[in-house]
Amino acid sequence: MAKLIVSDLDVKDKKVLVRVDFNVPIKNGVIGDDNRIVAALPTIQYIIDNNGKAILFSHLGRIKTEEDKKELSLRPVAERLSELLKKPVTFVPATRGKELEDAINNMKDGDVLVVENTRFEDLDGKKESKNDPELGKYWASLGDLYVNDAFGTAHRSHASNVGISSNMPQAAAGFLMEKEIKFLGDAVENPKHPFVAILGGAKVSDKIGVISNLIEKADKILVGGGMTYTFYAAKGLSIGKSLVETDKIDLAKQIIAEAGDKLVLPVDNVVATEFSNDAPHKVVEGDIPDGYMALDIGPKSVAEFKDVLKTAKTVVWNGPMGVFEMSNYAKGTLEVGEALGDLTDATTIIGGGDSTAAAKQLGIAPKITHISTGGGASLEYLEGKELPGIAAITNK
Ligand code: ADP
Ligand code: MG
Repeated sequence: MAKLIVSDLDVKDKKVLVRVDFNVPIKNGVIGDDNRIVAALPTIQYIIDNNGKAILFSHLGRIKTEEDKKELSLRPVAERLSELLKKPVTFVPATRGKELEDAINNMKDGDVLVVENTRFEDLDGKKESKNDPELGKYWASLGDLYVNDAFGTAHRSHASNVGISSNMPQAAAGFLMEKEIKFLGDAVENPKHPFVAILGGAKVSDKIGVISNLIEKADKILVGGGMTYTFYAAKGLSIGKSLVETDKIDLAKQIIAEAGDKLVLPVDNVVATEFSNDAPHKVVEGDIPDGYMALDIGPKSVAEFKDVLKTAKTVVWNGPMGVFEMSNYAKGTLEVGEALGDLTDATTIIGGGDSTAAAKQLGIAPKITHISTGGGASLEYLEGKELPGIAAITNK
């Protein structure tokens, strides 16, 4: 369904409340990766260029104690934003009260203001994270318009997304939110075929919802990573010391039966005696020998996966093919990633924190059509769930 977009709004002279996703890695006040700030720029710039006042809300990390506030202030983020926008940005070290209200009332058209970490409100009964009705209403009262550009938070019902939305006549999507909905939405609802999903990572339980939803929609589902061996166990293969979720074996059996030849499991694996890069390791086909654990997919599997990918028109990748953090078990992820980067004629989408990290490490990121900024949110989208943050945006 088409959503109201920030560009549909007349922002001139208006106080525009914008929920952005500035939940960046931060240590001792130093930002590790500013991707999410960069991703929010188009929406902020649009409001500035059209003479609106941009009032930005975001959470950062989790606030459980008074002590957490020191490490998780948005001040360094506001400073980085100022550098990126090449203009002053006002930072207000409060989430409510006179200082914030005065600062907002003093804004001129084209000004940008960052409100302190919305989760500072969590110290007082989780008001942000539990969508306290009073808080959403209060924040809504500070502005004229509302834009939600925080896809990474869309799977949560917070005061700063769902709460503000429900107290405004309408809520619009920002450009990042629009892009995420378009690419993930098209992949799930309207993919160009062949549609191939590559699913890996640690646990079956994390990805089971995605597999179930994509069984009907995808033409092939390539499985790698730690969850492979629960499927192996379901097929009666030996798994040695490999990662397994014994309580998911029955579910894996069911999926195998339902998916038929859509589900492609690795035929060979790199196995090691310990979970260590220095452990003795080798490639084996089929059964994993006793005393060994599988830590990557093997060369034959890589070749088969590449073969399937060759003709793909839509590919969604979530989860590495092995323990890519260790160089001896990174090859499967690396080669599958490269094959994805080489697909010039397909829409390629990556979701998931570790898969995104792998893509960046490989340098293939620029060749990918869309890398989702939301780990949990992209997974839930691929599961076919309705995300509360998106549902709260006005339909056109
Ligand atoms: P994403 O963040 O992309 O969704 P996940 O968090 O589900 O991915 O999984 C990533 C983790 O899975 C990585 O830390 C990786 O080391 C681990 N992993 C991949 N393959 C295996 C395996 N065969 N055994 C154990 N862990 C694995
Ligand atoms: Mg992860």
